[in-house]
Amino acid sequence: MSTTLHVIGSLMIDRVLRVPALPAPGETVMARSAAVHPGGKGANQAVAAARCGARVRMLGRTGSDGAFIVRELAAAGVDTACVMTSDAMSGFAAVMVADDGMNSIVIAPEANSRIGDADIDAFLTGAAPGDLLLMQNECSGLGHAVTRACEVGLKLWLNAAPMGDAVRQIDLGALSCLLVNEHELAALTGIGEPEAALDRLANAWPKLDIVVTLGAAGWIARVDGAPLSGRAIPVEAIDTVGCGDAFVGALAALRSEGMPWIDALTRANAAGALAATIAGAIPSMPTRDAIERVVARAN
Ligand code: ADP
Repeated sequence: MSTTLHVIGSLMIDRVLRVPALPAPGETVMARSAAVHPGGKGANQAVAAARCGARVRMLGRTGSDGAFIVRELAAAGVDTACVMTSDAMSGFAAVMVADDGMNSIVIAPEANSRIGDADIDAFLTGAAPGDLLLMQNECSGLGHAVTRACEVGLKLWLNAAPMGDAVRQIDLGALSCLLVNEHELAALTGIGEPEAALDRLANAWPKLDIVVTLGAAGWIARVDGAPLSGRAIPVEAIDTVGCGDAFVGALAALRSEGMPWIDALTRANAAGALAATIAGAIPSMPTRDAIERVVARAN
């Protein structure tokens, strides 16, 4: 049974510089090219989920310079009625992508930090018990959203990215699913080895579903109390920006559909691999057809 996927999250203007190699501290390097793309983890994941076939609505805020991000969301089929404009500038992401596909990113949330408790309350009047609410850590209101989501009876998924104090203050017991990459997992647990860190978290929170993405090494998870893992699909990675968002958005969409974990994770892994083959974040979020073709080829 398919339900609506609700996303409370960020919209950003990604300003992307392609560089031969990421600069070391104090170093200045000449970019090969510069580009501006719509992005933000909330927007990326909303688009990924919509392209994967989910019915998606989003709460977020941009500045007046962010109308093109909202158009991109709407074009992907995301309900943007609750994406509002504020008088701050849009969220700003300074992204560097190196020739080997590795990236470094600095974000300034700006308008994304203007999401208020009243915005969240109004947005969640459109959610029904059992629906999935997906959040990340690039906008304000995380704590309030967790409280309200529990009151409404939503399944709360947190992609704890980027890791920060707002995430540490959340009662992980209130979540249904926690999604992190290996760096976020290490920051959250203080344990550098992902399997050991996942074990520690899973023992502390036995009812919490936990999914850890490992970049080109694939993913590991503890879902419904059982360990699962998968290798990444080999691709020629040209830009890994948005891989995690493609993975998380696709997984949320497919779980909203009621797909079993292993099938949904296999497709999320394909979505992440596909995102590595295309430049930009939103432009690289794959369609359901593309994901199914990759899964069929890999079997
Ligand atoms: P984030 O973007 O949040 O750091 P990861 O880098 O862990 O997330 O990537 C998320 C997922 O995308 C991985 O688990 C994998 O499925 C896929 N992925 C990322 N990089 C590659 C790659 N180089 N080749 C194939 N798949 C990749």
